[in-house]
Amino acid sequence: MKYYILFGPPGAGKGTQAQKLVEKYNFHHVSTGELLRNEIRQGTELGRQAAALIEKGNLVPDEIVVGMIRNELIQHNQGTGFLFDGFPRTTAQAETLDSLMRELNLQIDAVIALHLPDEMIFERIQHRAEIEGRKDDADRATIQNRIDTYHGKTEPIIDFYRKQGKYQEIDGTGTIDEVFEKITALL
Ligand code: ADP
Repeated sequence: MKYYILFGPPGAGKGTQAQKLVEKYNFHHVSTGELLRNEIRQGTELGRQAAALIEKGNLVPDEIVVGMIRNELIQHNQGTGFLFDGFPRTTAQAETLDSLMRELNLQIDAVIALHLPDEMIFERIQHRAEIEGRKDDADRATIQNRIDTYHGKTEPIIDFYRKQGKYQEIDGTGTIDEVFEKITALL
C-alpha cells in the first residue's frame, strides 16, 4: 500500500486530479475538506464548529482534522494506495501525521504538489463557485484569506517533506489531462 499526499493551494485542482487517480488506480481518497463538508451537511456538532471557520476561509483546528485522518488510516489499511488531499495543511499536522504513521508502521511515499500562481487561483475558484456553489468560493475576501493562509501556514510544509526527499512539484497550469499525465508519470 502506497501513501501519497496531493499538495497545493486552494483551487489548484487537487480534488479533480484525485478523482481521476481513484478511477485509474483505485486509491482510497481522503479529502479533509470533503469530510468537513459532510459533517456540515449532516448537521453534527463538529460540522457546526467547522462551518463558521470554513466560511471565513480559516483553517479548522488541527485536532479535529487529525482525528478524522486517524480514523481513515485505521479503517482503510488495505488496497492499492491512500491519497491525502488537503491534508496536512500546517506543519503541526505534518508532524502529527508522521508520528501517527510511525505508530501504525506506515510511511508517506511521496508528496505531489500542484503549483499555480495566485492570479490563476482566483480565476479557478470563481469558476468553481458557479458550478459547485460552495460558500467559501463565493466571496473575494474569503478566497484571499485562503490564499494568505496557504502561503503563511501551509507552504512551510514543503520544507518538511523536501528534507525527507519526498517532495515533487508539478506545473498545475495545464489542462486537466496534461496535469494528470504529469502526475501519473511521477507515480
Ligand atoms: P480548497 O483546497 O479548495 O480550499 P478544501 O476542500 O481542501 O478546499 O478545504 C476547504 C476548507 O476546509 C479550508 O479552507 C479549511 O477551512 C478547511 N480544511 C480542509 N482541510 C483542512 C485541514 N487539513 N486543516 C484545517 N482546515 C482544513
